Amino acid sequence: MNYDCNKLADLLFPHITGTVAELEEKYPERSLPEGARVTRFAPSPTGYLHIGGLFGALVDVLTAKATKGVSYLRIEDTDKKREIDDGVSAIINGFASFGIDFDEGVTGFNEEKGAYGPYTQSQRAEIYQTVAKELVQKGLAYPCFCTAEELSVIREEQEKGDALIWGYFGKWAKCRDLSFEEIEENIKLGKPYVLRFRSDGQEDKRIFFDDIIRGKIEMPENIIDEVLLKSDGIPTYHFAHACDDHFMRTTHIIRGEEWISSVPKHIALFKACGFKVPKYAHTPQVMKIDEEDGTKRKLSKRKDPEAAVSYFVEQGFPKESLIEYLLTLLNSNFEDWRRANPKEDAFAFPFNLKKMSPSGCLFDLVKLNDVSKNVVSVMDADTVYNYIALWAKNYDEEFYNEFTKDPEFSRNMVNIDRESPKPRKDIAKWSEVKEYFAYMFDAYFTPDFDLPENISKEDAKAILEKYLEVYDEADEKDVWFSKIKDMCEPLGFTPNVKEFKKNPEAFKGHVGDISTVIRLAVTGRKNTPDLCSIMKLLGKDKVTARINEIIKSL
Ligand code: GLU
Repeated sequence: MNYDCNKLADLLFPHITGTVAELEEKYPERSLPEGARVTRFAPSPTGYLHIGGLFGALVDVLTAKATKGVSYLRIEDTDKKREIDDGVSAIINGFASFGIDFDEGVTGFNEEKGAYGPYTQSQRAEIYQTVAKELVQKGLAYPCFCTAEELSVIREEQEKGDALIWGYFGKWAKCRDLSFEEIEENIKLGKPYVLRFRSDGQEDKRIFFDDIIRGKIEMPENIIDEVLLKSDGIPTYHFAHACDDHFMRTTHIIRGEEWISSVPKHIALFKACGFKVPKYAHTPQVMKIDEEDGTKRKLSKRKDPEAAVSYFVEQGFPKESLIEYLLTLLNSNFEDWRRANPKEDAFAFPFNLKKMSPSGCLFDLVKLNDVSKNVVSVMDADTVYNYIALWAKNYDEEFYNEFTKDPEFSRNMVNIDRESPKPRKDIAKWSEVKEYFAYMFDAYFTPDFDLPENISKEDAKAILEKYLEVYDEADEKDVWFSKIKDMCEPLGFTPNVKEFKKNPEAFKGHVGDISTVIRLAVTGRKNTPDLCSIMKLLGKDKVTARINEIIKSL
């Protein structure tokens, strides 16, 4: 170009008086221990937190934690089309529900913490424009007045020809060589313009970079004169990424693999701005097996309710379960670590980006359920009680009222077969609790006396009548069980299951059948946690009434 770039910079950015050097001073290198990594999660405020977002944020937070670094949350709200009102709260609440705690960044609507802010892109216009002004001064950026129509003509022509690269570059980049006078004239006429990067990339050159997850990657150099600032002065993602990650002193850009193809652009921008190129790690997509055709595909916001983090909150999966499950997907050595550290907080796991697999990770609700059952089984009764109450308060008010009417009763109920060396593993999410313990509440108990085939109605009646004779609600488990055993022989059953298996013809059934009949009468279920504890909690009146009701019906 044959004009004074400083003059152009002043023409385009008369209001910008600060310099990049001042920004460098304002946002200095962080003083962190050797090897500490600074990571960020940078969502757009779409009001929707995808499970892939939680997955990514977990990687950011764990990477920072494992290296004594810093993780922060930046809101990328430069794309007004994608934004919804208060989309930030949905993201922040989503993270809070799962215990994702960033060290810095946006903490709420118009709230943030940390010295490298503002952490919301729409509040950083001056920073972007300061960097842009310097690029113009260095001859590395220029205004482009091409209209949408002109750009689509370029696109059509490129599509018609056999160009391998599409975009604004080389002979297509008409505004690259405008004279100062032409630019000045256009601006006087009030023509809208974008600011473009003046790329010096060459079509036959390649760039190399090391992706921490994927290893060495080689790609053609960027030759496109990418838009840096849109006509309203708002940056594109590419330019904002370079400015923000530089001045927030991010060391490791961890983001979705869909951004790999943009890396050449980003490296070119970092270099043009005089910024150190950060390290990149592109994470794999979260996939699932399609229920209909069995193929592996991306979790879709449209088709899969479990793509939304809010789904897990609504279903009442404890935050610990989802995090635990995501960790098994993130690092294959997590399960070994867990075995060696059964009581540790999951966030203490020494996560290693290098151990992440580059191929898509499969999100499987069935596995999540299993993991969750394990996690819930080792929680203490108070924790479980509080979680259920909190969940029900938000999602099932009627159950909340039942559940919290007698807190001591409900607390003891959830403690059946819990806080023991071999806890029962059957609750995965709080929304299951009402159905699981329905028989504990008169409001939900439905009698069901569907006898096993080998027990006749007469036998069942005899068992129940006999049981009422010996039943004493004060009996502890061993006495309770010995009474049931003692009932066996007079009724034609055997207390010895092995004996029954050896010689089934000799008996009507075994001790298990006797307790099944009692269980069915008291709970309407063939399977429950410890029956003696259930009966103690229900109390004599309820137990006797339920048994008598069944006897009457037989
Ligand atoms: N705002 C970008 C997105 O939502 C973030 C990409 C990045 O992490 O750099 O896709």
